[in-house]
Amino acid sequence: MTLPTGVERHEFDGETSIATQGDPVYGERTDDPWRRWDPHRSKLGAMLELGMDTGLSGGETVLYLGAAAGTTASHVADFCGPTYAVEFAPRPMRDLLTAAESRQRLFPLLKDARKPETYAHVVEPVDVVVQDVATRGQGRVANLNEQFLSGDGRLLAAIKARSEDVTADPETVFERVRSDLEQSYEVLETARLDPYHADHLGVVATPRDE
Ligand code: SAM
Repeated sequence: MTLPTGVERHEFDGETSIATQGDPVYGERTDDPWRRWDPHRSKLGAMLELGMDTGLSGGETVLYLGAAAGTTASHVADFCGPTYAVEFAPRPMRDLLTAAESRQRLFPLLKDARKPETYAHVVEPVDVVVQDVATRGQGRVANLNEQFLSGDGRLLAAIKARSEDVTADPETVFERVRSDLEQSYEVLETARLDPYHADHLGVVATPRDE
């Protein structure tokens, strides 16, 4: 597995895990200067642990949709460039602001990812969109935000089946979301995120040629 620059495998109390360098955020294990990137707490961490080809090499400009309290967004900002972190719930936003205090490249935005026009004046074109919104209409959210991606950029999305339909078979939901995504993207790779996250699909995609 090729990890981006700034993400390394490190041993924490006898257990090997991916890790980045930065102030701890969510009680993760640390071994100065490294802090564990817990794949059980992070879908992007799981995608890296599972060896998905994310295309990340380090230093990319990122738009992160569904940042919550910054568990994953903080790791991303540790090894990427400017990281615009969109979250619409005020409560996790407070913790996200705390995580951003020691991270000059992390820019929290209290915005709704379904309304990209409300942050289009702030967000520059990005190399990567990371999406983990766990809400109905995950394909639509990704399509609405494709406008920010450079032509050869990557969408790295975690699709939660139960957010679309609690009763349907996850595979049926994933097929539906995939076909939604194909309006704007070419899907390069998909993988279930087990054993880290049940009923989640990791997706790597790139904007479709016009
Ligand atoms: N990505 C986070 C991490 O790994 O640390 C966890 C994200 S959590 C599964 C999903 C988050 O998406 C929630 O905090 C929720 O408030 C946020 N969310 C859902 N719909 C959203 C929307 N339309 N715009 C912005 N945030 C949204």
